[in-house]
Amino acid sequence: MALLVQKYGGTSVGNPERIQNVARRVLATQREGNSVVVVVSAMSGVTDGLIKLAKEVSSAPTDREMDVLLSTGEQTTIALTAMAINSMGGKAVSLTGAQAGIITSGVHTKAKISNIAPRQIRKFLDEGNVCIVAGFQGQTDEGQITTLGRGGSDLTAIAIASALKADMCEIYTDVDGVYTCDPRVVPDARKIDVIAYDELLEMASSGSKVMQSRSVEFAKKFKVPFEVRSSFNNNRGTIVKEESIGLENVVVRGISLERKQAKVTITHVPDKPGTASRIFTALAKANVIIDVIVQNVSVSGTTDISFTMSSDELEKVGPVIDRISKEVEAGEVLKKGGIAKLSVVGIGMRSHSGVAATLFECLGNGGVNIQMISTSEIKIAVILDESQIDQAAKLAHAAFGLAEGK
Ligand code: ADP
Ligand code: ASP
Ligand code: MG
Repeated sequence: MALLVQKYGGTSVGNPERIQNVARRVLATQREGNSVVVVVSAMSGVTDGLIKLAKEVSSAPTDREMDVLLSTGEQTTIALTAMAINSMGGKAVSLTGAQAGIITSGVHTKAKISNIAPRQIRKFLDEGNVCIVAGFQGQTDEGQITTLGRGGSDLTAIAIASALKADMCEIYTDVDGVYTCDPRVVPDARKIDVIAYDELLEMASSGSKVMQSRSVEFAKKFKVPFEVRSSFNNNRGTIVKEESIGLENVVVRGISLERKQAKVTITHVPDKPGTASRIFTALAKANVIIDVIVQNVSVSGTTDISFTMSSDELEKVGPVIDRISKEVEAGEVLKKGGIAKLSVVGIGMRSHSGVAATLFECLGNGGVNIQMISTSEIKIAVILDESQIDQAAKLAHAAFGLAEGK
């Protein structure tokens, strides 16, 4: 008998009929002789709705209260899913994150899982139940409710699969798997059959929100293979696993897009040791996540430093940037929203050349201007005007022959 962890995302449990669809799928899996743990998200739109409500009663709700509020979204779904299974003649029990034994750090709204003690899950499974666990939430050692960051139900599923040493972890969503690019943007994007952890990690952390990036990081660290597939059909999905030799033959696996970015340029920064450190320490203390950083060659003792972040972050830290620029005696600060990032990802890049040339050529021929470039061993990313990101995605997708699976 196999032990399976199945995670159903917001769209898959988006209304009563879909919850009943999930209940039927889960029961069918159990009837095939498997033990099943199900992790569910809040119904689609519920988490966003709760955030909106919070803003209507307070301009600055505390992170602790946000966690208490947001955790109710998943709590609704676990009860409804368990009820649906029970009404179909199955045996299901719902468990909150705390009841499922998910212990986290105390950083509200982006807690890290520190331990899982799945005692109750094991007990209920042994009694023949399906366990329905609330995704995205846990509790601290002191019993405070925490959440794991947006998209965190993916992390709950992977972490439970790891703690239970499950035979398989299946992430059910509203697309057939991980595609070569977001299928909503590039209609001829193709489903990827197998992808390495590192590739999906780069894609997820550069805008492909099909999986939460922290969940892929966790899966890689604890070697949890998983499959991303659709809850609306029985097609095989995308297997995510450790790198193997065959996987290196493909140079570009996929393209990811990140919108709503902003660029800051600090001009005439004194070119002396410690200046960049002072600027970026101030930003780190303000908890800003900085993405691409470019520093120009120094001309007559000063240099320009540009960096990107999400536009939401810029709204919050604009004053911090102005203050630190004055302190280091830099020149003007230029802030620009409306930019986006396109990243081309593939582990085959380590052993193949020419990827940058192909990317720059196709964008140039299409009249897309590149504002910044950054690279890693398996990724080339370019910063563009946001209005050109969809066009750029289609150009790059075609240039690398991704629709044909070259
Ligand atoms: P869930 O609610 O099931 O967690 P998400 O909305 O978080 O689902 O993720 C699925 C969505 O991710 C898809 O509907 C798709 O639009 C988007 N997406 C972005 N990039 C990709 C990609 N490369 N492959 C597949 N889906 C992608
Ligand atoms: N409900 C949470 C969110 O919308 C977590 C999740 O769906 O994975 O981000
Ligand atoms: Mg998701």
